[in-house]
Amino acid sequence: MDTQYVYRFSPAQTDGNKDLKALLGGKGANLAEMSRIGLPVPPGFTISTEACARYQNSGTEGMAAIEPQVREAVAFVEQQRKQRFGDPQNPLLFSVRSGAAISMPGMMDTVLNLGLNEPTVAALQRSTGNPRFVYDLYRRFIDMFGDVVMGVKHELFEAALVQLKLEEGAAQDTDLSADALQHLSTQYLEIYQAHTGEPFPADPWDQLFRAIEAVFRSWGNERAIKYRRINQITGLLGTAVNVQSMVYGNRGPNSATGVLFTRNPANGENKLFGEYLVNAQGEDVVAGIRTPSPIEDLRQIQPECYGQIEAQTDQLERHFKCIQDIEFTIEEGELFILQTRTGKRTGPAAMRIACAMVDEGLVSPKEAVAHLVEPEHLNQMLHPTFADEAAYQPQVLALGLPASPGAAVGRIVFEADEAELWAERGEAVVLVRQETSPDDVGGMHVAQGIVTARGGMTSHAAVVARGWGKCCVAGCGALKIHADAKRVEVKGRTFTEGDWISLNGTTGEVIEGRHPLKIPEISGDFARFMGWVDQYRRLKVRANAETPTEAQKALEFGAQGIGLCRTEHMFFQEERLLPFREMILAESLEDRKMALEKVLPYQREDFEALFRIMTGQPVTIRLLDPPLHEFLPKVLEDQERLAQDLGIPVERVQAEVEALSENNPMLGFRGCRLGNIYPEITQMQVRAIFEAALQVQSEGLRPEPEVMVPLVGDRSELDAQRGVIQETIEAVFKERGQRIDYRIGSMIEVPRAAILAGEIAEQADFFSFGTNDLTQMTFGFSRDDAGTFLPQYVERKLLLSSPFDVLDQRGVGQLMQMAIERGRATKPQLQIGICGEHGGEPNSVAFCHRVGLDYVSCSPYRVPIAKLAAAQAALKEP
Ligand code: PEP
Ligand code: MG
Repeated sequence: MDTQYVYRFSPAQTDGNKDLKALLGGKGANLAEMSRIGLPVPPGFTISTEACARYQNSGTEGMAAIEPQVREAVAFVEQQRKQRFGDPQNPLLFSVRSGAAISMPGMMDTVLNLGLNEPTVAALQRSTGNPRFVYDLYRRFIDMFGDVVMGVKHELFEAALVQLKLEEGAAQDTDLSADALQHLSTQYLEIYQAHTGEPFPADPWDQLFRAIEAVFRSWGNERAIKYRRINQITGLLGTAVNVQSMVYGNRGPNSATGVLFTRNPANGENKLFGEYLVNAQGEDVVAGIRTPSPIEDLRQIQPECYGQIEAQTDQLERHFKCIQDIEFTIEEGELFILQTRTGKRTGPAAMRIACAMVDEGLVSPKEAVAHLVEPEHLNQMLHPTFADEAAYQPQVLALGLPASPGAAVGRIVFEADEAELWAERGEAVVLVRQETSPDDVGGMHVAQGIVTARGGMTSHAAVVARGWGKCCVAGCGALKIHADAKRVEVKGRTFTEGDWISLNGTTGEVIEGRHPLKIPEISGDFARFMGWVDQYRRLKVRANAETPTEAQKALEFGAQGIGLCRTEHMFFQEERLLPFREMILAESLEDRKMALEKVLPYQREDFEALFRIMTGQPVTIRLLDPPLHEFLPKVLEDQERLAQDLGIPVERVQAEVEALSENNPMLGFRGCRLGNIYPEITQMQVRAIFEAALQVQSEGLRPEPEVMVPLVGDRSELDAQRGVIQETIEAVFKERGQRIDYRIGSMIEVPRAAILAGEIAEQADFFSFGTNDLTQMTFGFSRDDAGTFLPQYVERKLLLSSPFDVLDQRGVGQLMQMAIERGRATKPQLQIGICGEHGGEPNSVAFCHRVGLDYVSCSPYRVPIAKLAAAQAALKEP
């Protein structure tokens, strides 16, 4: 027998086939499933992904192979619907839709009302008695077919529609008369012919096969190929094609159409949630042409149908084990379910539904973790959001990078010091900066949110804001900031200090004015759900944290230690910054050591606090990393103040700023290069770490120090640092007469380190991937400057996302895999983690699970998200 390519929506056709999704695509599989469990789906059929694969290989021969099967399936539908395709008396119309196993947005649209031509239009007019409706169907069909199948741009049709509305004085499409729509259909046929060079196909079979072929073709178009490559969608055969008979909710007062969720998608309440319109077509509900009625009203009007809806939605939930989003149509009293899919829901709703479904016995905790809550849902639960995102759309001023999620509302302030003054007066402020520096942290901390014109996803502002769980939009190049004049220009408008502004850190939107926020409640369900998550993940999840507050937050969210303590962040406070600056400005080794002596107690105090909070869990402390000029003031006024504080001439400060300035600071004097040139800095930091660890150990707690060396590119760099570190540790042990276990490890953030990981592993107890720098150096994209072009790259789809945000698995990921293999070949027990910002991004976390990392480390607010992503990755394994 020939291969079966066409599957009717009929139980016998698909029974027993386990991987329906791969064969029929997501949409087709759900339609088949609904038919199988006895739900009233308008008859139709799905042409399989295997047929698409055959078409890709053989073109017309592939079409010939499916043709007899399609004709047979159409005949079957004709029988069921008691109509005939192309019949001039009682015509059957179809919808044609694509549907791959994994949804690929924008690959291919839908063609509705297929089968219309002059005779069938006439027949429908007779049977419905509503020519306006029929010509509306007709002009929509010509538009969709022209656009989707033949590439005639929708805008061309739209322009004719707009022109006609002007001529007719019609405010809305619905104001157009039947005659006007008939005229429009004729115009559309002309537009079609003018742009394709051929008349619109009148033969319904011709329409059908062309539409099917167009769907198949769309699988191989450039956009789709690129989408799959970027999203690493592999192993799919192609897209399926769903051909379904049209049913009409606009046949009269006994007909209706509606959309409903099986539970409330906003808060998760277990109650039908939806609306419907009597005597209407599906898109009318969505388009808001008339105001729909709440679904409960249907109980009075059509009690029988309502009862059926209740029973069937219940059945659907039990079958698909998740909230469903359903489209239905009632045609003259008869209920049809047109489509079902997993319902999109808010974070709090997802959490409530997951727990409720476990309690109702619908799913096991394992299933709830695997399918019922998405990482993005947790994100929403941890940050404030706007009460109504649609409401502020007209006031969006610019789009930057969504650097740290959540929402913020406040008055514009341009200087960090100013922010602190405003905040002291009890004002909510948003800090608007060209970029931020360690000098700004005080102001950043009191601000509701931060927006910068420059800098990327791993810029100072972004990293610091995420650590605090504070909303941040970075690299918003459209903002022309004149901080001195206290104004910002955007979209031809000018805003000054004190004006209200809102930020959406989840979307990157900068919005004019003051928009209401809502704070999501963290319910008991949250803790219960996270308990289940912990049972199923293998990856450990640590936090990137420097301050006790951050460490405490991390612990609250269930972090299993600290994976990155950026020691330089500890100098953000004024009193600590001064001795550190003194160290930088020291002119002799002796002076430098004296200054370092002053820094040491601060560091020790901080480390003690971290070790206490994280007792029994590892704390990875990274040695000083940024170039030293980052710590010196750039503005004359600040330089003068520093000179005064240190009792040195301002020229001395300026000379040092000059001496330390670099053309490419990110590739300059930073990372372990600092510790190797100035070993006394490493000595001070290591001493502080181990004096702190021994102190905390003597209190009966269990500190687990890990010392991490940044920016290693050659084993010699690590060897040299390891020598200094061990010597210092031994000295401290000897002085205190006490020892403690520790690890010394290397960051892998220079491509060369990944390549030579086998050698580096000889001197390392652990690796930690610094994927921020590794991405920067692998792409050659500056972390701090990529904001000027990356957003456009993403907009133009040169990249699907910023690689600083979502790990580039194909490139950077390959380097990681190489490092893992080579490192573990040297040392099979080598502990390996990641501490770049990707450690909290769900897709990247799944990758880290697959390549066998031991842990990921991310900002405290992303710990629950990383945990869920890790559990879901583990549960996906066969
Ligand atoms: C990294 O490069 O990924 C990293 C964690 O270090 P930083 O962001 O501090 O350079
Ligand atoms: Mg780095």
